[in-house]
Amino acid sequence: MKNTFLLFLLTILFSCSVPHYPKKYEKQGIFSNDSIQNVVLNNEYKNTLQIQYLGCGNLLIKNQNDVIAIDPFFSNNSGIKTAFGKIKFNQNYFNKGTNFINRFNIDYKDINSIFISHSHYDHLLDLAYLLEKGLVNKNINIYGDNSTRTIVKNFIVNYTFNNADSFVLKNEVNPKWINIKPNMRMLIIPSSHAPHFGKIHLMKGHSDSNYFNNFINSTQKLNANQFKEGNTYAFILDIMQSDTIAFRALIKGAGCEVNNGEVSKEILKEHPIDLAILQIASANFTDCYPQNLLNQIKPKKVILTHWEDFFKPYAPEKIKTVRATNFNYFLSQVRKTNIWSNTDLKDVFYMGKPGTMFNVNY
Ligand SMILES: [Zn+2]
Repeated sequence: MKNTFLLFLLTILFSCSVPHYPKKYEKQGIFSNDSIQNVVLNNEYKNTLQIQYLGCGNLLIKNQNDVIAIDPFFSNNSGIKTAFGKIKFNQNYFNKGTNFINRFNIDYKDINSIFISHSHYDHLLDLAYLLEKGLVNKNINIYGDNSTRTIVKNFIVNYTFNNADSFVLKNEVNPKWINIKPNMRMLIIPSSHAPHFGKIHLMKGHSDSNYFNNFINSTQKLNANQFKEGNTYAFILDIMQSDTIAFRALIKGAGCEVNNGEVSKEILKEHPIDLAILQIASANFTDCYPQNLLNQIKPKKVILTHWEDFFKPYAPEKIKTVRATNFNYFLSQVRKTNIWSNTDLKDVFYMGKPGTMFNVNY
């Protein structure tokens, strides 16, 4: 199994898809170097939700004074270390990411809840450090599946860890909304993970509890392929105003496979998706993503994430696209939906480098 992992990771690293600066997308107006971007859902907007993209699936979402974090990860490791050696937390990259956060007067202590979409290392490695160092408040709520719990079990002892498997949407008539605040709620919905290369889907299954018994120091070296995916989830975030839904976002930490990761009709009937946050990495290895999902949810705006090369140092000033992902194919699939045939894609799709704050006005 390990050999298969190495072989295909190698294929990814040395594949013909060479990382490059996203110049083409910049020309099209989809990618911008600006560290603040405005996403206007309604020209007569009264409210702003701040969404900071920090790289891979790592997001901070701030509504008034409440902050939620998704998939905390800054510690990019080289492809060679990921495939043949061991990966580890990186203090410099973490500090760099923290500076991006602090620039917008956000502190880790403002975080109310942390959600993990799945348990691959590039979605949760830095969670252990945040917990171990007490950078977040003791009373935060962490939501992750069983595989996530296995990985960080030695770091959550003084915190509230909620098993996402027991909150995930099963019954559309009676969804288990998580009330983060009276005006902010989150629903965990089933999703899936696109293959990493061709039909090859790496690091599937549940993490080995014995291996992570020895994960006791957040800065120690670990095998990337021990971070098994577990269950992959997506999230629906609602901002409420006096019991009505004022804004709704769909947040996906992975591209999905056929008949997976869609939003149920009952949920959409209640309120449509205003904003979709969709990841690009390895989207071209599915036959359905993002077009099936977009056809179903028809979001007003889309923020694209997990698009940069995370096998390079965490250095947004030297940003390159992720290897083995075909961006043109992604956009061609978007165009095929015909949802935006009369609209310039630049008015719908937004892409920023890690650290970018999207002011979502609604
Ligand atoms: Zn993943």
